[in-house]
Amino acid sequence: MDCIFCKIIQKEIPAQIVYEDEEILAFKDIRPMAPVHILLIPKKHISDISEILPEDAGLIGRIHLVAVNLARELGMEEEGFRLVNNCKSNGGQEVFHVHFHLLGGRKLGAFAG
Ligand code: AMP
Ligand code: ZN
Repeated sequence: MDCIFCKIIQKEIPAQIVYEDEEILAFKDIRPMAPVHILLIPKKHISDISEILPEDAGLIGRIHLVAVNLARELGMEEEGFRLVNNCKSNGGQEVFHVHFHLLGGRKLGAFAG
């Protein structure tokens, strides 16, 4: 499959990995929009959030737990952070393997899009 994030999971493309377990990978965004900009992905290929199934609910929830733990480890718990998913064209999705952006380390602008 020609999916750049699957290639990162397979270690065919390098990435700065900050967390990994059997079903989740987190790595630094190559074009950071904030001092902290991490992408969290399921190892299971799901093209976008609209494709999740009831059986994926635990996985998607665990990704959020990992994001919050990373935010805490990076000292962002008190001042806060943003966790974002872009879905398809109108949502601004560029990579079609579902991912969540963990952004923080500065005051982010109001979310107008
Ligand atoms: P989205 O617009 O939500 O699909 O976001 C895709 C994100 O993936 C963008 O912020 C890109 O900078 C990031 N990205 C693309 N290729 C790579 C890569 N090889 N390693 C890390 N981040 C990447
Ligand atoms: Zn993929």
